[in-house]
Amino acid sequence: METLVVLGGGESGVGTAILGKKLGFEVFVSDKGLIKAAYKNVLIHNGIDWEEGGHSESRIMQADLVMKSPGIPDTAPMVRSLLEKGVEVISEIEFAARYTKANLVAITGSNGKTTTTMLTHHIMKQGGLNVGMAGNIGDSFAAMVARENFEHYVLEVSSFQLDGIRSFRPHIAVITNITPDHLDRYDHIFENYIASKFRIAMNQTEEDYLIYDADDEVITGWLKDHPVRSRKIPFSLEKEFSEGVYIKENELITSINNQQSRMSTETLTLQGKHNQKNAMAASAVAQLLKIRKSTIRDSMQSFQGVEHRLEQVLKIQDVLFINDSKATNVNATYYALESMKHPTVWIVGGVDKGNDYLPLMPMVREKVKAIICLGVDNVKLVNTFSSVVDVMVETTSMNEAVQIAHKMADKGDTVLLSPACASFDLFESYEDRGDKFKQAVRGL
Ligand code: ADP
Repeated sequence: METLVVLGGGESGVGTAILGKKLGFEVFVSDKGLIKAAYKNVLIHNGIDWEEGGHSESRIMQADLVMKSPGIPDTAPMVRSLLEKGVEVISEIEFAARYTKANLVAITGSNGKTTTTMLTHHIMKQGGLNVGMAGNIGDSFAAMVARENFEHYVLEVSSFQLDGIRSFRPHIAVITNITPDHLDRYDHIFENYIASKFRIAMNQTEEDYLIYDADDEVITGWLKDHPVRSRKIPFSLEKEFSEGVYIKENELITSINNQQSRMSTETLTLQGKHNQKNAMAASAVAQLLKIRKSTIRDSMQSFQGVEHRLEQVLKIQDVLFINDSKATNVNATYYALESMKHPTVWIVGGVDKGNDYLPLMPMVREKVKAIICLGVDNVKLVNTFSSVVDVMVETTSMNEAVQIAHKMADKGDTVLLSPACASFDLFESYEDRGDKFKQAVRGL
């Protein structure tokens, strides 16, 4: 019996363990920290051996195959030892992909992965395809493969998952955009992170497709020097293509395999230029899968959006409150501000991951009437923007932030929570931050 060791007892670790067990591996899950009670119960229920609070090195070194969870870096001592011994160490998407014949659509990028994945899944479902959605969203891919027999999967994949692939080959790959992120895991070298994202296409052949943002110079620059074998389908807000997706006179035009479909950008439920890009990527996937044009159009209109991403919460006395708590970096917030159509009271701040706020300056000048800094340390924000807006307030309370914003906003204005920062100074997670914002708004 082959031995599978799973490092990390989170979503992808437990999913891998379940699939491994079902396939007949002898499975052992080892977590250096603590495993959540819910996951422990699943392991026990499935008769899977596990440990927490440390690694039993001698047992782990006996493994035939190791699945490493995305949170564990290659530099972790246990992983180093395994690699030195020549043991195969892979990621969960690699493991799961080996055991399904389903058609794979894989979506990566620095921003927009979840939105594009959910929109694509929604269109494919409306198109009548037997499709599952997995990866960084909800259930792990491995857990899905163990449980269900879908004909198609839409997968949201991170660079960490891609670092651990060997033969993973999506028929359709999407790279939404690439901006510096997670550089601590890439020796602080941006090229390493870009290369990691492009691994999504490394096993693709001429029969496969790579859909990408042709306005993103990081992507186009990389493709010039590092050609891919797959057929390239670009999308753009600025250029037109004989094959690709673009916008012309307020129409989103998808031109693929000599077929053209058109839809008015006015009818898209998702707001903002960045969401037009996400819609273009999803439309390309759908057209490649031969989903009817009318279905694609209708699905774009019925898509409800994703919680915490430019989510419209409530209108109170003609002031619209928008929750964009998932904007944990400057790029995401740039697009949020860009999509504001009315004078905006902007709630920003949190844990700064080395942010440079200057790119936001033109948007702030144009759209923002007041700034509320919601964070423990707001020095950088205050220094950058205090001379640009009339009013700038600091607080560490979400309720207070929302109350002040409400007072400052006039009829027709928008209050936007788009922090450009991580949430851990005051909240458990971005979801917690978004939920608290919504509670505070509803309590007004
Ligand atoms: P991810 O899964 O990659 O983190 P999300 O879809 O969850 O992406 O969106 C994260 C944040 O980025 C949100 O604030 C959202 O409004 C913003 N965003 C969504 N799509 C894009 C895009 N194509 N470009 C830039 N920002 C985006």
